[in-house]
Amino acid sequence: MSSPAAAAARSRLVEDLVGSRYVQDPRVREAFLRVPRELFVPEPSRRDAYVDVPLPIGWGQTISAPSMIAIMLEEATVRSGERVLEVGSGSGYHAALLSCLAGPANVVTIERIPDLAARARQNLAQAGFEAVEVVVGDGSLGHPSRAPYDIILATAGAPRIPEPWAAQLAPAGRIVAPVGPRLHEQILLVARRRPDGTLEVREGTPCAFVPLVGAKAWPKPD
Ligand code: SAM
Repeated sequence: MSSPAAAAARSRLVEDLVGSRYVQDPRVREAFLRVPRELFVPEPSRRDAYVDVPLPIGWGQTISAPSMIAIMLEEATVRSGERVLEVGSGSGYHAALLSCLAGPANVVTIERIPDLAARARQNLAQAGFEAVEVVVGDGSLGHPSRAPYDIILATAGAPRIPEPWAAQLAPAGRIVAPVGPRLHEQILLVARRRPDGTLEVREGTPCAFVPLVGAKAWPKPD
């Protein structure tokens, strides 16, 4: 349950994100106001849930800073009814925001660390987003069983856009993903599927994400 103090802190953070123009779309603003970030952040970082910083969520992973999430949601321009695949469930927070935009049953999120996927499922249920499907697997291969997707949004950095993602996009589907030659030093790419199946790719903002580890991404860490 979200406390009045948490709701007030959330509201202040959202107005800051609007003031700094990270959030421009009123639907994205509404989504940030609806999702209680404090329920997705484990102790002892919970007191910082409404500070605009990334926070540890266990298993060496992080929940991204709200401003970074806002940039990705603005780039994705998710419409109601669109089918969304998030790669990198982490805490489940970003998936909850996506479900506010696309509709609860339209979002599937994939996580490679089974314990983290279980935690994301738990967090989503506690926050009232149990319709979001959390699956365990290598998201660098996409998630063929629910394809095609209107949007594939990745929250871990790949060396390049994995080919299975392009193959699993619906016509005019979009990919929003951090990509770069170096770990933690990426550019947010925004790609759109052309009618011939190739991708039109635009470079967005520089960013720093944990690595996407998988068959079509970075090799497993030792
Ligand atoms: N979106 C998350 C949230 O809202 O808390 C934050 C995600 S965190 C920055 C990146 C996540 O990607 C980590 O949980 C990591 O385990 C996961 N990941 C890395 N490689 C993956 C892969 N191949 N498939 C699925 N998840 C992966």
